[in-house]
Amino acid sequence: MPAQEFVTCSSEETIAIGREIAAKLCAPVLVLLKGDLGSGKTTLTKGIINGLRAAREEDVTSPTFNLVHEFRIQNPAGSGAMPHTCKVYHVDLYRIENFQDLESLGLEDALSEKSIVIIEWPEHFTFRTEWPTLEIRLNHDGGDSRRIIICDLKFDGEPRKKTHP
Ligand code: ADP
Ligand code: MG
Repeated sequence: MPAQEFVTCSSEETIAIGREIAAKLCAPVLVLLKGDLGSGKTTLTKGIINGLRAAREEDVTSPTFNLVHEFRIQNPAGSGAMPHTCKVYHVDLYRIENFQDLESLGLEDALSEKSIVIIEWPEHFTFRTEWPTLEIRLNHDGGDSRRIIICDLKFDGEPRKKTHP
């Protein structure tokens, strides 16, 4: 499985990686962020959402209490001349305990339209989607260092079929 790995030494560097990831995202896509508390999932999301031009970094905060934050991109890159909006969802499943909890989040709506869905703690639920899925693992690497590993996956963990070698 092709994986890309980066080591960052500050939250600013992690945000910069998030912006690089954003440049490659195109709806619909699911971004799964795995890693311990404090490993930098929300920090990386600041870079992704800011890179998508959906919000300022400081307006991207942990969805610990609301569990889902919704953003919009007006006329996303590559959308052509027709004006349209793409939604970006930032979800935190840390507190999700059961299926009823998950249903109450309205994630099905998010997954029924072509959007960009970024999920912290995806291990707390099994997602069934045909959407392209990017899995990103963040690990503490001593002090302010974080190791960020990016894998291109399908929902079930199988490598996504490539159209080119
Ligand atoms: P998570 O969402 O995984 O719980 P956060 O992004 O909320 O983690 O928090 C990461 C914390 O670690 C922040 O306080 C951030 O400033 C700090 N930090 C220190 N070094 C880094 C780094 N290299 N990358 C990301 N965050 C870092
Ligand atoms: Mg977080």
